[in-house]
Amino acid sequence: MTQADPIPLVDLKSAHAEIADEVAAGFQKVLATTGFIGGPEVAAFEEEFAAFGGVRHCVGVANGTDAVELALRAAGVRQGDEVVLPANTFIASAGAVARAGAVPVLVDCDPDSYLIDVQAALAAVGPRTAAVLPVHLYGQHAPVEELTEKLAGSNVRVIEDAAQCQGATRNGRGAGSGTGAIAATSFYPGKNLGAYGDGGAVVTDDADMAKTVRAIANHGGLTKYSHDLVGFNSRLDALQATVLRSKLRRLPAWNAARRAAAARYAELLADVPGIALPATLTDNEHVWHLYVVRIDAFDGDRDRRDALVGNLNAQGIGAGVHYPAALHQTPAFSHLGYPEGSFPNAEAAAARIVSLPLHPHLTAAQQERVAEAFTAALG
Ligand SMILES: *Cc1c(COP(=O)(O)O)cnc(C)c1O
Repeated sequence: MTQADPIPLVDLKSAHAEIADEVAAGFQKVLATTGFIGGPEVAAFEEEFAAFGGVRHCVGVANGTDAVELALRAAGVRQGDEVVLPANTFIASAGAVARAGAVPVLVDCDPDSYLIDVQAALAAVGPRTAAVLPVHLYGQHAPVEELTEKLAGSNVRVIEDAAQCQGATRNGRGAGSGTGAIAATSFYPGKNLGAYGDGGAVVTDDADMAKTVRAIANHGGLTKYSHDLVGFNSRLDALQATVLRSKLRRLPAWNAARRAAAARYAELLADVPGIALPATLTDNEHVWHLYVVRIDAFDGDRDRRDALVGNLNAQGIGAGVHYPAALHQTPAFSHLGYPEGSFPNAEAAAARIVSLPLHPHLTAAQQERVAEAFTAALG
């Protein structure tokens, strides 16, 4: 490794190298049977992922966005209902709400954890609210228990967007295991548990909701040519399931490596002025999907932040921004009509945050180089 070697934001090649033999054997097995959709590999993965997360049911689906939409639909969200969600999340959270026919109602985030502001979410619940969709952003759970407690007994469901937190827990529990009614996750390749293509899953303790997800995702029926409701096609395929089974066995070790890397960054960057390092909420086991640092030294000057990211990228360091715009600042959701200034914490974060490379195969030497370059770029 020379100084010039690039340091990617995520390193899928090193992850593949660990499991290449298993993946080849898994693909051979599927190719021999030509059972490409569903089948024993998918069923085995669903069982293993449910056990891993401490939930009763897992339904593999085609991608994370579908998973969120299916969770919303299974939880009873209907055309014209409102769904409360944070203004700062990946676009897909809101896209899924819109595709379910519901209206996204945005709320601000906590200024330091960037997780949904629970008080604001509760205040946004009204007569048309069908669900609150907290997003477990960057690898740690949003503090949902106050939401679940206060909304218990009402018609408002807590549905978790768990796309970024495979393996994370809060008070020892994983997403969908009673923390919310139902949770959706994504196996996009760059996620902590990533497929070799698209994939996703819905997890829940509720057998009826799991059944509904499975039916909607399979043309509205649980058996071939029975169609109880209008559904669509969103299924996990067997090749992806073999990859996911192999990666799931490594996930605890890979998440531990991410935690160690996060601790190392915290040490390396502890004395750098003008930045705020990411923190872990009490009661959370963080899995560090992203390592997000806030730059306060630039006073919210987005151009200077972007220049810093460009500077790091020019040195081969895969820094990024997750995400450069809050939902109401994107053209796709401008029709919701929230003016600039509506969500000060989310807007401040969008202008100030930087994600530094973090993945299970990151070395201490690479982190030292990132920390040095980042500190120099801050000026
Ligand atoms: C990745 C992601 C999704 C969507 O997942 P896809 O598999 O890309 O459709 C949804 N929500 C969040 C927060 C995500 O990070």
